[in-house]
Amino acid sequence: MVHRRARRDRDLCVVGVRTLWRTVGDGEFFCPECGGDRNYRRRTGRRRIVLLGLPLLPRGPVAPIVECAACDSRYGMEVLDHPTTTRFSAMLRDAVHTVALAVLAAGGTESAAVRQVAVGAVRAAGFADCGEEQLLALIEALAADTGRLPGAGSGERDGLDPCGTALAIELHESLEPLAPHLAPTGREAVLLQGARIAVADGPYRPAERAVLETVGRALMICPDDTARLLAATRAAF
Ligand SMILES: [Zn+2]
Repeated sequence: MVHRRARRDRDLCVVGVRTLWRTVGDGEFFCPECGGDRNYRRRTGRRRIVLLGLPLLPRGPVAPIVECAACDSRYGMEVLDHPTTTRFSAMLRDAVHTVALAVLAAGGTESAAVRQVAVGAVRAAGFADCGEEQLLALIEALAADTGRLPGAGSGERDGLDPCGTALAIELHESLEPLAPHLAPTGREAVLLQGARIAVADGPYRPAERAVLETVGRALMICPDDTARLLAATRAAF
């Protein structure tokens, strides 16, 4: 009884602004508070003047929020820009796969050492079942698609051949969205994986260098750092 009266007295005193939330969507996101992938609720709110516990006057919408279903932490919509751990792993795996493919397409598929390093990189990145045949078939398909044999005639010219151009677009598409979410050492690690494939059969061919420079640019590594990393990889081999 005492408790109820106290509560009623408090309600009577309340004149303020309350936000009424409505859930308008859900999904999975990376919750910074939980430090992992969680479900979220996307919610929009409307503020109302509250008198005696009753919402009275609408005071307009508030910015939509993302609320963690596990810990109830609330964030702005920009929290969804950060990929989930699952999505990030997939992006990284695809990035290494594309880099390996692009370096192979630039030449060196006839070398067993090159094929071995490429397959090793792709497997380590998460495609455990990837084999040489699979990579070579992809390169052939790419070459057929663009009407060129991989590496053919590419050694003498600057830049990339038509097959390389298609791959350059692939590289930008797979690496650019990933780059902002990688630490500098993570970006360098992706470039280094490509460099190790290229030097497995000797010095960089011009086409390989061109591919790796494209990789560096797409990963937002400055050209000087890319050149330094490529030289260090070659020297270490
Ligand atoms: Zn959370």
